[in-house]
Amino acid sequence: MLTKHCAECGTQISAEDWYEFIALKYCRSCAREVRRRQQAEWMREFRRKQREQHALTRQLCTAQQEEIERLRMLVALEREKVRELTDEIGGENA
Ligand SMILES: [Zn+2]
Repeated sequence: MLTKHCAECGTQISAEDWYEFIALKYCRSCAREVRRRQQAEWMREFRRKQREQHALTRQLCTAQQEEIERLRMLVALEREKVRELTDEIGGENA
């Protein structure tokens, strides 16, 4: 039986074979606690990244709204030009 001490609480822990011994780091209850902590940390990190991504998406949407507004104005100006030219042509033909 191979034995060592839990990296968290120092309790003596044992492994059946060498491979288990290498992988073993914590006693049963500490392993559960460490895993819970890691999962909470991953979740926090995941939510943080999601928030970041949402902020970027919002920025992109705002930029695109502005671009659409700018294009609408261009279209309105072009329509105005076309109307003026049409009036000119109509005037000449009359
Ligand atoms: Zn422990």
